[in-house]
Amino acid sequence: MNPEQEQPSIRRIVLPSGRSIEVVRFGERSHSVRDLHICPECNSDLVQPVEWSEAPDDCWNLALHCPNCNWYDEGLYTAEQVRELEDRLDEGLADMLRDLKRLTQANMADQVDRFVKALAADQILPEDF
Ligand SMILES: [Zn+2]
Repeated sequence: MNPEQEQPSIRRIVLPSGRSIEVVRFGERSHSVRDLHICPECNSDLVQPVEWSEAPDDCWNLALHCPNCNWYDEGLYTAEQVRELEDRLDEGLADMLRDLKRLTQANMADQVDRFVKALAADQILPEDF
């Protein structure tokens, strides 16, 4: 843990009366605030959770892995951080599905091209079917 994370957390709370107070928490296990999908070693945005389990205080224990540089870490993260990571993973999945669709269309276009060329060259015969 770096020294920055050892600082007490301060949270301002507005009471129903309109007064606000500052709540200072010491010794609380703090959480890393970085984007979880970014690798701290190589800056790749491909970090993925490989294991996860619920922890107290609406937190999650995550084991994270970077497929680019093989970085691995386990840590405790807030539900909000985990939700943001899930959003990134959903975007990554949507990107992959878009790429798959484009690749499938490109393959089909290539097959149609070759079929048309074969037809034009009289290479397709009735016994092919
Ligand atoms: Zn990495």
